[in-house]
Amino acid sequence: MTIFEKIAARQIPAQIVHETEDFMAIRDVNPQAPVHILIVPKRVIPRLAEAVESDAQLLGEMLLASREIAQKLGVHESGYRIVINNGRDAGESVPHLHIHLLAGRPLQWPPG
Ligand code: AMP
Repeated sequence: MTIFEKIAARQIPAQIVHETEDFMAIRDVNPQAPVHILIVPKRVIPRLAEAVESDAQLLGEMLLASREIAQKLGVHESGYRIVINNGRDAGESVPHLHIHLLAGRPLQWPPG
């Protein structure tokens, strides 16, 4: 099981900020910004490169949920960045697709 499956199964704790039947949004344990949320599907899609047509609705719902989460956490006006790390060069460390929502400080561009 991936660490995110264990969180979804309530085997290990996490700070959950939003949850539906199909995905959850949790606070990152090693935050890279004052607000660092991970939006994680409950079923495993290892990475975006391995997503398939039937994942489209779930991925769309997760992306749209970022608006609601940004509002809930008070960063919808100041701005936020959505990131998906896919593969080694992108810095992917957990092989269970997740969307990072980063906010609460000015973020550099281009990213490192
Ligand atoms: P990535 O490098 O894109 O695969 O992102 C994985 C993220 O998961 C990192 O930002 C980690 O800090 C975060 N992470 C790892 N373990 C946990 C955990 N138990 N709870 C919350 N976030 C975690």
